[in-house]
Amino acid sequence: MKNIYPPAKLGILGGGQLGSMFTLAAKTMGYQVVVLDPDVAAPAARFADVHLCAPFDNQAELFQLAQCSAVTTEFENVSAQAMLDLAKQTQVSPSGASVAIAQNRILEKSWIRRAGLETVPYREINGVQDIDAHLLPYLPGILKTATLGYDGKGQTRISALEELREAFSRVNHVPCVLEKLVDLRAEVSVIVCRSGDGQVAAYDPAENHHGNGILAYSIVPARLPETLLVQAKQIALKLADALDYVGVLAVEMFVVGDDGRLLVNEIAPRPHNSGHHTIDACAASQFQQQVRLMCGLPPADTRLLSACCMANILGDLWRADGSEPDWSAVLEHPRAHLHLYGKAEPRPGRKMGHFTVLADTADEAYQTARELHRRLQAK
Ligand code: ADP
Ligand code: MG
Repeated sequence: MKNIYPPAKLGILGGGQLGSMFTLAAKTMGYQVVVLDPDVAAPAARFADVHLCAPFDNQAELFQLAQCSAVTTEFENVSAQAMLDLAKQTQVSPSGASVAIAQNRILEKSWIRRAGLETVPYREINGVQDIDAHLLPYLPGILKTATLGYDGKGQTRISALEELREAFSRVNHVPCVLEKLVDLRAEVSVIVCRSGDGQVAAYDPAENHHGNGILAYSIVPARLPETLLVQAKQIALKLADALDYVGVLAVEMFVVGDDGRLLVNEIAPRPHNSGHHTIDACAASQFQQQVRLMCGLPPADTRLLSACCMANILGDLWRADGSEPDWSAVLEHPRAHLHLYGKAEPRPGRKMGHFTVLADTADEAYQTARELHRRLQAK
């Protein structure tokens, strides 16, 4: 990989909140940023030098993006082929091959297992003929579409074969996985940074709490045994090496059973919601890392500088008349950092922003974040 320095142009596929925080990091370092996103109101368009407002498969705009010195992506549901094509013209990370794996749960799981790591017990469902008594050991379970799922979308809880047939029909028989519902004791994620020449750095694992399948809080350091956290980092690094990955990779894991076994849930070939605390609580943010790694530079220090808790701000917090949540408590708190993504439409379940609370301990950070989150709803 070539080393790329400011004021070179960097391109990104996608201009949502991840693209927006990437753009801020890149601009701060003196790079120019070109964002491709079909939404005129894409959050990253607030900061980018150029917003190519077009579909992700628009050949003319992809050609424009290819004029950048390096290109990356903010999400996995881009065409992996488009990324492979871009890679013929400019420096692209992560690779189209890594994105192709991360965007398909079937490929992803079989690939995680090939890397010698454990996943939740699952079966592929490619057609109605796959639904029979062989699946009973996987119930109760969750049917997940193989592609295009996020924030719990494309998922249905299943307790009987008949329900499974109905749910499969509701998703129009697209390829799916049926996962056994596992006894989750905790969820953790590790964000790994890996450069083109194989240098790696991993952030401390985040302890993640979800509501309705959507991340609600990430607490760091995770309040789990040190041995388990060391193991979680090793798993994430192993996956990054096995993929010969370049860039920022997030690995979500489940902690199951009394013995606290780690199962790999899914990977994301990009910065992750559970890594937003790295902006305010770590030596370098996951977005600075994305900039560095796509530019051929080594990973920066991932060190955690303070215990913290990140809380997501969803569209549910906006009142029916569209008026804003009460920001006063978060803004007045001296150790809370508010990030709003500038999205106009506050739909339920939509990620509108987040805040990160720094504290002396993880417990205190979590308590404060929950209290401040409650105060957003008040009035
Ligand atoms: P998404 O792509 O929407 O993030 P995930 O597969 O990560 O989908 O599922 C979202 C959340 O749903 C998980 O973080 C976890 O809380 C819960 N979940 C998913 N799969 C299982 C499972 N097999 N057993 C128990 N809980 C699960
Ligand atoms: Mg997930």
